[in-house]
Amino acid sequence: MNQETAEQKTVDQEIRDLSEMIRSSARIVVFTGAGISTESGIPDFRGPDGIWKKMTPIDFNDFVRSEEIRRESWTRKFSGGASMAEADPNSGHIAINELVQAGKISHVITQNVDGLHKKSGVPDDKIIELHGNANYATCLDCHQRYELSDIQQTFLADGTIPYCDSCQGIVKTATVSFGQPMPVAEMKRAEEATFSCDMFIVIGSSLVVYPAAGFPGMAKQNGAKLVILNNEPTDLDSIADLVIHRQIGVTLSAANANLHVLH
Ligand code: ZN
Repeated sequence: MNQETAEQKTVDQEIRDLSEMIRSSARIVVFTGAGISTESGIPDFRGPDGIWKKMTPIDFNDFVRSEEIRRESWTRKFSGGASMAEADPNSGHIAINELVQAGKISHVITQNVDGLHKKSGVPDDKIIELHGNANYATCLDCHQRYELSDIQQTFLADGTIPYCDSCQGIVKTATVSFGQPMPVAEMKRAEEATFSCDMFIVIGSSLVVYPAAGFPGMAKQNGAKLVILNNEPTDLDSIADLVIHRQIGVTLSAANANLHVLH
């Protein structure tokens, strides 16, 4: 057997193992990070070429404290090139949505702010966005939603910084910024989903950002099977039942295709 064949066999075996574990599970939680969205052309902010390596992120407390810093923040937001809102779900998002629609996946917990799980068809009540969503804004006080296109129009016209129409509160992109507390309701939903699952799949997260990265361990301790699908090794590989270091979209698509054969 030459080396290429041996390698191929390993890929097939990993996909068969993943399919078999999905088949034998009734309630799966998927936990996604930046790695799934890089395949849609969205850069990994924390990666070696990430935005945060070139530009210091704005701290939440500074944003609240200073109008100048809010102006800087909106300037950055609207001066980028192609926005996240224009990105499309890739084969990884689509494969996850297939398993949601099939009733296999109970919840998708994500660290991503790009909204691509929703765009792929996953219903809101099955998505838990731990770090919020970059495609709209909300009032920090009353949580009323505002559309970025409206904010952009007035900001670019005369530099007007958005305040809430209802309560005059500060309006901010609906992401969880550095220095901003994790959203209590989303953390609680994520915990409940994690403790109710019998299989937990980490997809495209290097599992370095706490508290979010604590969920796989919680699931494992609670008796769920743990799978990690990521390009690079993670700190939790040693406790996982299956570890796959491969491209996400092709791997999940192949596992789903194989799943139909198993039925
Ligand atoms: Zn308000």
